[in-house]
Amino acid sequence: MVGGVMSGIGKGVATASVGRILKSKGFKVTAIKIDPYINVDAGTMNPVEHGEIFVTDDGTECDQDVGNYERFLDENLTTDNYITTGRVYEAVIHKERNLEYEGRCVEVVPDIPNEVIFRIKKAGKITGADFVLIEIGGTVGEYQNMLFLEAARMMRLQNPKDILFILISYLPIPEMIGEMKTKPTQTAVRLLNEAGIQPDIILGRAPLPLDEPRKRKISIFCNVLPEDVISAPDVESIYEIPINFEKENLGNRILKKFGLRTKKRNLKDWEKLVKTIKTAKKPVKIGIVGKYFETGKFTLMDSYISIIEAVKQASWFHKRKPEIHWLSAEKYEYNENCSRYIKELKDFDGIIVPGGFGSRGMAGKIKAIEFCRKQKIPYLGLCLGMQLAVVEFARNVCGLKGANSTEFNQKTKYPVIDVMPEQKALIREKKYGGTMRLGAYKCKIKPKTLSFRAYRCLQTSERHRHRYELNNEFREALERKGMVMAGINPVKSCQRQFNRVNPEKDLVEIIELKNHPFFVGTQFHPEYKSRPLRPHPLFREFIKASIKG
Ligand code: GLN
Repeated sequence: MVGGVMSGIGKGVATASVGRILKSKGFKVTAIKIDPYINVDAGTMNPVEHGEIFVTDDGTECDQDVGNYERFLDENLTTDNYITTGRVYEAVIHKERNLEYEGRCVEVVPDIPNEVIFRIKKAGKITGADFVLIEIGGTVGEYQNMLFLEAARMMRLQNPKDILFILISYLPIPEMIGEMKTKPTQTAVRLLNEAGIQPDIILGRAPLPLDEPRKRKISIFCNVLPEDVISAPDVESIYEIPINFEKENLGNRILKKFGLRTKKRNLKDWEKLVKTIKTAKKPVKIGIVGKYFETGKFTLMDSYISIIEAVKQASWFHKRKPEIHWLSAEKYEYNENCSRYIKELKDFDGIIVPGGFGSRGMAGKIKAIEFCRKQKIPYLGLCLGMQLAVVEFARNVCGLKGANSTEFNQKTKYPVIDVMPEQKALIREKKYGGTMRLGAYKCKIKPKTLSFRAYRCLQTSERHRHRYELNNEFREALERKGMVMAGINPVKSCQRQFNRVNPEKDLVEIIELKNHPFFVGTQFHPEYKSRPLRPHPLFREFIKASIKG
């Protein structure tokens, strides 16, 4: 799957939708995202620029599209599902240093594309997938993804019957003309042809479904059959996309091209979900107090995509229409109107403070948390949102004046949130990439807590991405004043997961407050594990409490 001349048109969701369709026809499917960046992983990227950093169970910090694949396929993916230019070059150089090229000249072509092909095949083998969907990031004609297109071309040459190319391209309807234009798609196909690739199927992204004249035009000029031009119109909810594609028979077109027998789909659960999405009328109003959504005059939501989806999924579970509002934390900080602004939080059914890094907006988030605690507004704090809830409680309830996270004040008298010694060493050596507490860790749930009511079990596993932790030295002081340590990473033995050992450290994973309808903070990121048909238990309970309030 490759994109036309414009980015941000939903290539990831389209790839994920194709995956869902093939899965619904009984196939095993996996998907790979290719990011053309030099970054080895997405962990070092700015979320406003790149969007959310998604984290898999095995601790890979990857592109948010991997999150889309997980949500649509309802499967846990791994590091094999993510390729970046950085990763490919790193591997080739490593092999070269190990004499794996047996003394010959190592060249950009074919050695880089060969490494890409090796990785794609490996992912297919490891997952045992019938179909490996590959999404090439960026757009056709740009310099950065050329080597990946080259890999795709080489793969087709090697296995012509096993490779299919899908182009997703935007068809604008300029207001002053009022007609859907096919030229950008024609240009995109030309550019692809220059790279030696002819698309087999074209997905036409547009505000509306493509009509017959448009399909005919694309067919003739782009050299594909009219029935292989598939409409991908704007939708109210991304979960409609597999259903829309199937209206045009995309799944069976793909099977036919591979010489496979066509199969019936079973998208019943999915159709039921879409029906709920379309019929839920009563709103549940959730405010997200964050900072990664402003870029110039635009508001971007990409940095919080998994949280948005988790809120939506939990709301639909309760047959409610999710209404998400973006609240800039800085508004509640040091200005003469801040006490007036903070009162707006009363208009919401529930408040979320999401994850984050650095001190900008921190004071505002703490103010918002204090307000939710005192006004008994349902509150869900995710990672930084949990850490700041601890800071707020330590300062205002336990009387630990100036309590803080050492991320924001290294000299604080009360470092209620602090780095682990091994993290200190990493920071000192400036080893930032891929070194946080990452991926799945076990969490023991305390009975008779809100969390236990949500999970309905005594142990779970959740995904992490942070350096700082609740400082165990302050646990007792916090508990004495009514903070409940509802989830703990147990110490008993070392848990071996995937290829590495996640040491167990007796760390607090969930905090709660008593005498509050819903006040929960998680050191992990539950949003990564929420799925459309299986909303995350904590989000489910948070929305339930928000509805009641
Ligand atoms: N900055 C905090 C830490 O590193 C929280 C990170 C997050 O919210 N993901 O621990």
